[in-house]
Amino acid sequence: MRAVASPDLAFEVTNAQHVLQRVFGYDSFRGAQQEIVEHVVSGGDALVLMPTGGGKSLCYQIPALVRSGVGVVVSPLIALMQDQVDALNELGVRAGFLNSTQTFEQRRRTEDAFVSGDLDLLYLAPERLRLDSTLELLDRGEVSLFAIDEAHCVAQWGHDFRPDYLALSVLHERWPSIPRIALTATATDATRREIATRLELTEARHFVADFDRPNIQYRIAPKNDAKKQLLQLLRTEHAGEAGIVYRLSRAEVERTAEFLVANGIDALPYHAGLDKEVRAAHQSRFLREDGLVMVATIAFGMGIDKPDVRFVAHLDLPKSVEGYYQETGRAGRDGLPSTAWMAYGLQDVVQQRKLIELSEGDDAHRRSLSRHLDAMLALCETVECRRIQLLAYFGQQAQPCGNCDTCLAPPESWDGTVAAQKLLSTVVRLDRERNQKFGAGQVIDILRGKKTAKIEQFRHDTLSVFGVGADLSDNEWRGVIRQLLAQRLLAVEGDFGTLVLTESSGEVLRRENPRQVLLRTEPKRTSAPAKSKDRKQAAQDMPPEAEPIFQQLRAWRAATAREENKAPFIIFHDSTLRQIAAIQPSTLDELAAISGVGEQKLAKYGQAVLNALQDE
Ligand code: ADP
Ligand code: ZN
Repeated sequence: MRAVASPDLAFEVTNAQHVLQRVFGYDSFRGAQQEIVEHVVSGGDALVLMPTGGGKSLCYQIPALVRSGVGVVVSPLIALMQDQVDALNELGVRAGFLNSTQTFEQRRRTEDAFVSGDLDLLYLAPERLRLDSTLELLDRGEVSLFAIDEAHCVAQWGHDFRPDYLALSVLHERWPSIPRIALTATATDATRREIATRLELTEARHFVADFDRPNIQYRIAPKNDAKKQLLQLLRTEHAGEAGIVYRLSRAEVERTAEFLVANGIDALPYHAGLDKEVRAAHQSRFLREDGLVMVATIAFGMGIDKPDVRFVAHLDLPKSVEGYYQETGRAGRDGLPSTAWMAYGLQDVVQQRKLIELSEGDDAHRRSLSRHLDAMLALCETVECRRIQLLAYFGQQAQPCGNCDTCLAPPESWDGTVAAQKLLSTVVRLDRERNQKFGAGQVIDILRGKKTAKIEQFRHDTLSVFGVGADLSDNEWRGVIRQLLAQRLLAVEGDFGTLVLTESSGEVLRRENPRQVLLRTEPKRTSAPAKSKDRKQAAQDMPPEAEPIFQQLRAWRAATAREENKAPFIIFHDSTLRQIAAIQPSTLDELAAISGVGEQKLAKYGQAVLNALQDE
């Protein structure tokens, strides 16, 4: 039985440092981990905000091993519980889970193991905690701590709200003396306050980690033909590598996956409209196979801790910076260089504004959505370092990073006041003189003085503004409109996305002292792959001549993973294999010194790794 694997492995769990080294094979804690672990070990409540890949799991796993009793982990990610438990068992940790995918018999055995204290960690879906039977079960065993993973799911205005999380306040009421640790990678002040209130964690110590993910290169490119641009990116920079492509709609997910497959790239679709079994199969393949591309809606990804996701691509505009940061954070958890790339254009702004207009809920809700979108647009349109903007959103300061598109190729800005006036007055004239509203295409044709059939049909060539914008290209005008929309100096309405003025448009149009409009210059070339100095350096944890050995180790790992029906990274991460390739240990002791090689893995795979190294 899985749930109580390795019962024979008795840890002399004396202290946290010891567990870190022996069980996980790491030499030292990262960032605030040690402080958090000590705080929870000594019985304190904690609210932990750390970026994806920051190392949240250890913050509750180690206290659960050190404290007496079973650590109960609340997680919404039912589909991933098996993997999480497998990975822990692989380390010699006794872990189990209870969820609706199990048979009665499997559940009963896990429950027995919990009650008799034969588990270190028990994973539960939040909806189970609503059941009286679960609460009674927990009373029958000894709980060492409660860990609430993905705690932002309790935030009602957030992007991942799960009603079941609201019931988690019961933990504090029913077991006031058992420490609770809530963890999330979503971290604006507002979200943090909401989590603290709803989970009654007001007394808890807050730990806010550095949110920077320096190994991720952030790039936002102007969108021309998103699918082709994506293909170019995959071919030139990420051939044969694993990645996630996010799309807004299910239909686009399907189309994009088909397009990639037709172009020889191993890609799978994932969205809520697919059968449960298909979804599970695709997710499992993504985790187990090397170099697969997952094309997905945001239904995919939470809790996916595949360490070697090399890129995350957004082909549509995310709804919020929080969502964007969480999604892009799924790249490069192993710390190796990775890309967060997004294609963004005028149509995205129009579409998102329309979605908000049509969204259900009251005005307050719509205002909240608008605020989130505005922050996202500001990030897209910034001429400053993307990372500075991103981190500022989470209340943190940074220096220009040298590893984002604006740092690598600083965009220029220009005074677009006159262009904005021309555009806005075209909208005004259509409305006042003709009582008409049009979308971006027609307005641009008017400005550029094009004699199209539609221009003739509506006699728009007789407007006084006809042709006044011939100095800018179509593309430049689209950039002007996009940025005016982003700055709320222009708005869209209705199904056709017709352009209308906003309350602020008048400030630009007034004769005296018009408001100055600064615009980002539209780049001529579309997606020049950016290379940073740091990027190269970061990859040099392993000398180039070790590459064949690394590949040899990967082949050994792939074969072993297949035999044991596991994801390769559960055996060893790429980063661990790279170090092994670089150091080429010849004894088990030397191997044990490498980060990521704990006792159990050394016992299980140590000799096989040494053999694989000899097989040159
Ligand atoms: P999160 O849940 O915050 O996204 P994880 O807990 O999955 O992050 O950790 C991210 C990666 O970092 C994992 O591969 C984990 O094994 C590794 N890691 C965590 N803490 C340490 C540490 N102290 N030393 C080395 N690697 C670590
Ligand atoms: Zn930068």
